[in-house]
Amino acid sequence: MTIAETPLRTVWLEQFRAALGEANVYGPGTPELSGYVDPYAFGEQLPPAAVIRPSTVAEIQDCLAVAREHGIPLWTVSRGRNFAYGGPEARLPGTVVCDLGRMDAVISVDDTAGVAIIEPGVSFQALDEHLRKIGSSLAVSVPDLSWGSPVGNTLERGFSYTAHSEHQAMQCGMEVVLADGDIIRTGMGALPGAETWAMYRGSYGPGFDGLFYQSNFGIVTKMGIWLRPRPERSAVCSITIRDDNQLGALIDTLRPLMLTGTIQSNAVIGNTAIVASTMTARDHWYDGPGVMPDTAVRAAMDEFHLGRWNAQFGIYGSPALLAARIAEIREAIAAIPGVEFVFDEYECDVDPGDVAPEHRTQLGIPSNDAISMIGWRGGEPAHADIGLVSPAKGEAVDTLRTLVAARVESARLDYTVGFMVWPRHIVAMNLIMFDRSDPDQKDAIGPLIEQVITDAAAAGFGIYRAHTAHMDLAADQYSFNDHASRRFAERLKSALDPAGILAPGKQGIWPQAMRPST
Ligand code: ADP
Repeated sequence: MTIAETPLRTVWLEQFRAALGEANVYGPGTPELSGYVDPYAFGEQLPPAAVIRPSTVAEIQDCLAVAREHGIPLWTVSRGRNFAYGGPEARLPGTVVCDLGRMDAVISVDDTAGVAIIEPGVSFQALDEHLRKIGSSLAVSVPDLSWGSPVGNTLERGFSYTAHSEHQAMQCGMEVVLADGDIIRTGMGALPGAETWAMYRGSYGPGFDGLFYQSNFGIVTKMGIWLRPRPERSAVCSITIRDDNQLGALIDTLRPLMLTGTIQSNAVIGNTAIVASTMTARDHWYDGPGVMPDTAVRAAMDEFHLGRWNAQFGIYGSPALLAARIAEIREAIAAIPGVEFVFDEYECDVDPGDVAPEHRTQLGIPSNDAISMIGWRGGEPAHADIGLVSPAKGEAVDTLRTLVAARVESARLDYTVGFMVWPRHIVAMNLIMFDRSDPDQKDAIGPLIEQVITDAAAAGFGIYRAHTAHMDLAADQYSFNDHASRRFAERLKSALDPAGILAPGKQGIWPQAMRPST
């Protein structure tokens, strides 16, 4: 029996309603609950017992008191767009989703220091609009889809495509409500009145921000983020390489340019199929089952002038700086056998409509256009993401892609990959597109991800983020010293939240009383 079925249900529902108002609680059986399931589920969808929508920290504290009284687990989302990893769906039946979408204030923007403090419900799109509205000199760095929030995305270690692409490196200070209702401010936020809360990532004593990344130790209600000055001029470099074997050479060419800061953004390197998916559906070349044959891949390359590997990155600065950077980058890239490349330059005040759609993320222009990619297999479009961390070294990436491609293709799915390249590491984002209405494709996803997680870990490649269905398995791989990392996390969880009120099982972290046997 889940909490939603117990005789007490009216009591806790009424208490939530008293705390938030009737309109901000979606009870069992209400149609709104269908918006809080995993839209790309490859197993059964799990609707929540209810949804609560607090709008203040005090309301969150009131809701936590209700949850503690009745032992109801809460699963917090900011904008709930964590698609491909479970969306807003919780791990356990009977969970109430705590949707922070109404906490959508941009609390402060400091143009002088280049920082902002925001609430969780602020989307990338809304932050961009706010900065433009107030005439700020600062700009957001946006991921592929701007409907999500900087807070949710950062907490899950998401990324974007400018000089501020690594969101965890651009986060500074948080406010967090703990399971017992206590409120902490991390970093300099602990010093009352300190102007430096969102400016200095240290503090006095240990740092706590990292504790709230991919964890279940608290509800983040404010976050400081560093914003980038709107660049005077930007350029996007686009590279195509038709020889499959030159991926490693490309990575080994980009890395030194990134280590010196000559290239300021990360680079994204997509294979033919993933770039083609941004332009049209797979049945344009092939509508059969199984893996898209190489003849069809070649047809896509010819039709859209694609390479086996297609890279892009951004560079920014004054005209003089940009010219100097381009000259150095041009010389290095030209040495790759068979490479073709072009630089497209844009002025600061370019009309977003005049920017090529494929360059918009490098310019920080919000958009949700990339969602069209998931129509690759037609039917009921969905994707599952497997992101693996590799050294930014050509040889390592060749090992990883051989391993993953073999498993994806033996599951009779297309290998569609984008390598996100930073100076020292790469996140290999395997976006596996599938048609949820096709049982063969849908049923292949879960076992495929499990196999890739374990086989990649055995080869030293860790998963960077996991779907709710695979959180325990993913955590299992990080096993140094008899799983000391997870044991440490669970000692904290048991101390902070012994009853498992906050997202039990998230990232494979359970309080002692709830730990499933492994
Ligand atoms: P987005 O805002 O990008 O749509 P989500 O709201 O789906 O992202 O958040 C992704 C995940 O991050 C959630 O499933 C949840 O586990 C965690 N999370 C998001 N926001 C918070 C928050 N404010 N406090 C604690 N955890 C959060």
